[in-house]
Amino acid sequence: MAKSYNLNKKKISGIEISYEKEDLICYCYDSSGQEGPLPLAVAWPKNTSEVVNLVKYANDNDLFIIPRGSGTSTTGASIPLDNNTLVISFEKMKKLLEIDTANLNAVVEPGIINGRLQREVRSFGLFYPPDPASLDICTIGGNVATNAGGPKGLKYGVTRDYVMEIEAVLPDGSIIKVGGKTYKRAVGYDLKNLFIGSEGTLGIFTKLRLKLLPLPEESLTFLVSFKNLQASGKAVSKIISSSIIPSAIELIDKASIEAVENYKPIGLPIDVEALLIIELDGSPDTIKTDAEKVLSICNSYGADISLADDPLAKDKLWEARRAISPALYNIKPTKISEDIVVPRSKIPEMLTELKSLSELSGIQIASFGHAGDGNIHVNILVDKENQEEYLSGLNIAKKVFETTLKLGGSISGEHGIGITKAQYLNLEIKERELTIMKDIKRLYDPKEILNKGKIFNFI
Ligand SMILES: Cc1cc2nc3c(=O)[nH]c(=O)nc-3n(C[C@H](O)[C@H](O)[C@H](O)COP(=O)(O)OP(=O)(O)OC[C@H]3O[C@@H](n4cnc5c(N)ncnc54)[C@H](O)[C@@H]3O)c2cc1C
Repeated sequence: MAKSYNLNKKKISGIEISYEKEDLICYCYDSSGQEGPLPLAVAWPKNTSEVVNLVKYANDNDLFIIPRGSGTSTTGASIPLDNNTLVISFEKMKKLLEIDTANLNAVVEPGIINGRLQREVRSFGLFYPPDPASLDICTIGGNVATNAGGPKGLKYGVTRDYVMEIEAVLPDGSIIKVGGKTYKRAVGYDLKNLFIGSEGTLGIFTKLRLKLLPLPEESLTFLVSFKNLQASGKAVSKIISSSIIPSAIELIDKASIEAVENYKPIGLPIDVEALLIIELDGSPDTIKTDAEKVLSICNSYGADISLADDPLAKDKLWEARRAISPALYNIKPTKISEDIVVPRSKIPEMLTELKSLSELSGIQIASFGHAGDGNIHVNILVDKENQEEYLSGLNIAKKVFETTLKLGGSISGEHGIGITKAQYLNLEIKERELTIMKDIKRLYDPKEILNKGKIFNFI
């Protein structure tokens, strides 16, 4: 446990560090809308050895540590819970160190922005698929720590599927390397995969080797409108069961369509109940045949279909999709955002349940997201200042989790647990498994200094 703090506010071995309130205040928040106490200091290391020195400094002075990327966490995973905290920000460790075109991988520092990596490898004809909607602002370090996914997860998988090697600084200041340069390995326990999705609680990533793919030859993007929300869910289930894997199937419900059109009008149809953005990629012949099948399924559910026929039109559609999250704040100031995931055949049932929860409570719920892989972003729109409404919103979130689990799903598909979902962890993870997880945390971090209080409520 951290002791009360009395420390000289000076530089450590030339590392950039600040103790000033105006710098620290930004690190009390992330995209969850939660607010933490002011940390003691924020440091911006430039290399692994500076991270090691910072970790030693934190150990010597009984400080908690938070590794931080861009703070786009929607679960409070990147905010301090105690004043005696050193935030290690990776804003200045953002180099693309290597693109290995012979072996199809890239080595990066953790602070590189996802979208920048995507653009850089594209110029070599290569492709880094994980594409969270926050890709223009979030870091690869944060993506690995949360196992981030995105629309392309449907066909290409999530961040975990692209991490080959991790260099990390452990809470005692030692450096370890897990994974390696080869695609396959069968040597001992898979410590690399333990780090992925660990939300900054086991180690601090300082270098990452990521798998790349060749860029798909071609892609086709369709905007598909439905007069009925359930029909859109049924169409998704039918597409998935027809042995075609589009590169993305994204759902946008009516509340989300209206929010985007009021925020950043791009001409989405507003007289419909749901939209699907469906993208197919691959060789020209294959996608043509697949497109015919997908469109005929959508037609059978009464959909209207339009093709985004040039790169600009495609970009506009994806821009609209990425604008949903900020746009929803124009409806209500507080967004309780969950990212539940259900087996894909259960999407229609989940959508029906969400509709009835909204109607019964009178609280608006906007749903959108990666319907193709069953991952629906459920946004319960309330005003935190209205205590009664906020509590009803939290109550709805609990019911959403219960329904999700009843349908065989999981309470988080990609955002993780952080602090906002820690109280619900035991709804999904049984006691024995939870004990193993906590034991692993203690093994890596016996002093429990790394990202205190995240995932588990036990510190
Ligand atoms: C508009 C919007 C859209 C989003 N869309 C998606 C989406 O489509 N898919 C998705 O998965 N998520 C999405 N998110 C959530 C968020 O962007 C992701 O969780 C992202 O991976 C967080 O990256 P970050 O750099 O902001 O990390 P932060 O928020 O700074 O940190 C997140 C976690 O990672 C840890 N961490 C950060 N850097 C390191 C490091 N170097 N070593 C160890 N731990 C580290 C932190 O301690 C924390 O636990 C969205 C968020 C927003 C605001």
